Amino acid sequence: MKREAVCPSCGADWSDGQTCQDHFYTMGFWEMENPAFIPDAHHLMVLSYHLQHPELYSPEGLAGAIRMLDAFLMEGVSTQTMRREIRDAVDSGKRKHPITAKGDRFGRYSQPVRWTMWAGDVTAAGMDSYVASVKTWAGSIHAALREAGAITTR
Ligand SMILES: [Zn+2]
Repeated sequence: MKREAVCPSCGADWSDGQTCQDHFYTMGFWEMENPAFIPDAHHLMVLSYHLQHPELYSPEGLAGAIRMLDAFLMEGVSTQTMRREIRDAVDSGKRKHPITAKGDRFGRYSQPVRWTMWAGDVTAAGMDSYVASVKTWAGSIHAALREAGAITTR
């Protein structure tokens, strides 16, 4: 079977043989090796990766992730505040909807989103630029979502 040359989900170029998931693991590995990266980058990295692969979310999970990215980038919500809110929302009993996809209930965008940066761009820029690259990546996702009408708050 021929390997896909393009990510079926985000459209990233896989022609060098590396998938988006490979890059996701590389970024996670860099964070483990450099715990100082985590406060600034971890949450944005996980959000960015999943927002470009919305089928990993349930529809409600995707909507919540979009709100979270918007809050992070536009309102400057601190990671700690956000963690607390997420924990409260995820605590048993309070959560009304599953965050992750189940069966045919998965997230998708109503309009096609034109991404301008992918996980592979973050890893290609190298470990030393990791935190800055993740912030640029997250910003590009925010801009693309806004252009596609998935973020309409401002
Ligand atoms: Zn992808």
